[in-house]
Amino acid sequence: MNLVSPQILDGQRIAGESLTKLQSSVEAFTERMGRKPKFALLRVGENPASVFYMRRKCAMAEKMGIESIVAVFPVGTPQEFVEEEISNWNGDPSIDGILVQAPLPSAEYQRFIFNAIHPGKDVDGFHPVNMGKLACEDPSGFVPCTPKGILRLLRAYDIPLEGHHVVIIGRSLIVGRPLGLLLQSRAVNATVTVCHSQSRNLAEITRTADVLIVAAGQAKLVTVDMVKERTVVVDVGQNRDKNGSLCGDVDFPAVAPRCAYITPVPGGVGPMTIAMLMENVIQACAVK
Ligand code: NDP
Repeated sequence: MNLVSPQILDGQRIAGESLTKLQSSVEAFTERMGRKPKFALLRVGENPASVFYMRRKCAMAEKMGIESIVAVFPVGTPQEFVEEEISNWNGDPSIDGILVQAPLPSAEYQRFIFNAIHPGKDVDGFHPVNMGKLACEDPSGFVPCTPKGILRLLRAYDIPLEGHHVVIIGRSLIVGRPLGLLLQSRAVNATVTVCHSQSRNLAEITRTADVLIVAAGQAKLVTVDMVKERTVVVDVGQNRDKNGSLCGDVDFPAVAPRCAYITPVPGGVGPMTIAMLMENVIQACAVK
């Protein structure tokens, strides 16, 4: 076993640095337009994790001098009602960005609602136009916040990616899929393997990773035998253990001593996601 302590990929610190750099853009926009940047958030239902994440996003926006408004619909609200609200926001020039908090009641409902957002206001980057731009390496689109934050964090620590093997566990629209596109782009040039619940021999694949990124939503999915020595491990998972404490998808105490670098949970990917959301809101303002 490697006796050298792993380096912690400190998302809290790197996110703080990104937000400090962003502050002048927020102030410049406010000065130029005579109003604050503004984004609108929407949720269906009272999923406790969604309530928590929306509060954190609004709190960070307020701290940055960005205005936010929130709409909440009860579970069972017909898609058309939600779509109407989004349509109003799409047409409101004082709203720069729109975000719909996932998950929505069903995959079909989610697709319908994400597709209703104007691509130019889609600060989460889940609209097919923005996903398509990511796939086509067109930089004018919005890149989803968690993948963008993970890349920023790895860059901040000079983790080599070009020609290196990155294994991602998870293929969701929100994390794994866009992350795979981003890392295999010509700007990054990683060799990417994306795994999911039907992947065979998961441990054999993960042991070939130079960088292992885990976004499965399964506490302790990644155990020490799944990671080769000196791997860089990024844990996206946000789970609750039996005591209600936040934990990731990686068995941190066992896995960390084998790693070159590892993200903590909390304090790793989470703060990066919120910082990248603030960046995307300012990107949405830039065209004005
Ligand atoms: P989803 O449930 O949408 O996707 C999970 C993915 O992991 C799916 O592709 C699924 O496979 C795969 N998976 C699940 N179990 C296994 C397994 N045992 N072996 C291999 N693959 C598996 O989740 P999200 O992508 O939305 O989120 C993943 C985690 O990341 C959650 O804990 C979430 O809370 C967290 N998260 C954290 C963020 C942050 O900022 N830190 C932001 C967003 C999410 P299949 O497709 O076959 O079902």
